[in-house]
Amino acid sequence: MNYIVVDLEWNQSPYGKGTEVKELPFEIIEIGAVKLNEKREIIDNFQRLIHPQIYNEFHSITKEIIHMEIADLNKADPFDVVIQQFFEWCGKNYRFATWGNMDLIELQRNLVYYKITGYIDHPVPFYDVQKLFALCYYQNKVPRTLEYAVDHMEIEKKEVFHRAYVDARYTAEIFSRLDLEIIKKNYSFDYFHNPQSKEEEIYLYYDDYYKYITREFQTKEEVMVNREVNSIVCNQCKQRATKKIKWFTTNSKTYYCLAYCKEHGYLKGKIRIKKAASQNVFAVKVVKQISKEDASLLLERYVEFKKRKKEKRKGKEKAL
Ligand SMILES: [Zn+2]
Repeated sequence: MNYIVVDLEWNQSPYGKGTEVKELPFEIIEIGAVKLNEKREIIDNFQRLIHPQIYNEFHSITKEIIHMEIADLNKADPFDVVIQQFFEWCGKNYRFATWGNMDLIELQRNLVYYKITGYIDHPVPFYDVQKLFALCYYQNKVPRTLEYAVDHMEIEKKEVFHRAYVDARYTAEIFSRLDLEIIKKNYSFDYFHNPQSKEEEIYLYYDDYYKYITREFQTKEEVMVNREVNSIVCNQCKQRATKKIKWFTTNSKTYYCLAYCKEHGYLKGKIRIKKAASQNVFAVKVVKQISKEDASLLLERYVEFKKRKKEKRKGKEKAL
C-alpha cells in the first residue's frame, strides 16, 4: 500500500462573511501531493493549480500567504479536470495522509459541490500527521503548526510554506520519520460521508479512548435509545462498564455520561449528534478513561444540570 500525502490551498469569498457561496465557502485552487511507498520513501509527486469557478479574486488572507496572482490560476484547468487527474495519479491501493483534518473535508466538499462521484463516497481512513507528530513527540494531541514540526525535526527549510506542493513535501518528510508503531495504532477516520449502514459503522480503539461513529437514525431520540450507542464499554478490557450518571445534555447536541470499570476506573462518555446530508442524524461517541478528579468534576456538572432542570420545572409550575 502507498501513502498519498496531500495538501490543498483554497480561496474564500474576497468580500467577507455573508458573501460566500454557502455550499462552497472554500474553493480549492491548488493540489499538491507526494506518493510514498510502503517504506515511506518518496516515489512520485503531483502538483496542479486550479482555475477557480466561484471566487475570481483572492481573499486578503489567501493573497497574503499564497504568493501568487489570480492570473496564474486562470491559465490552469478547472477542478473537475484536475481532480480526475489526481485520483488517476493516486492509483488503487493507497491511504491518505494530511496535516490536520481539514484538507480531506474541503476536498470532499468541493467534490460534492461539483457533483463528482465515484472517488470518495464513504468514510475514509487517513493519517493525520499533525496529530501523529504530537503523539510521537508530546504524548498528547496539542496541535502544532507545520513549520513548528519542520523546525523541531530539523528539516531543511528550502521552500516557503503555504504552497500545496511545498507543504505536502514537508508533511511527507515528517511522516516518513515518525514512529511506525505509533502511526499504525493511531489512524483517523474522516466521516464527511458518514456511515450509511451497520456494516459501515466505525469503531476506533486507541490507548486511552475509543470512538464509535454510527449509521444514520431518523431522530436524535432514536439514536439515544439505541443500546449500542448508549452503553459504555471500557476501552481496555472491552467489558461493559457500570453507569454512574445517565446521559445528560445541556444543549441537546452533546451528551455526557460517567461510567466505571472495576478494573480500569472511570470512563467519560461523550456523544455528539451530527446532521447527515440526508437530514437524518448520526452520532459520534467517544469513551475516554479519566482520573477520579475529572470524574468528580463531571459529577458536579451533572448535579448542577439536575438542579437547573428542577428550577426550570418549578418555574413552569408557578407560571401555570
Ligand atoms: Zn476495563
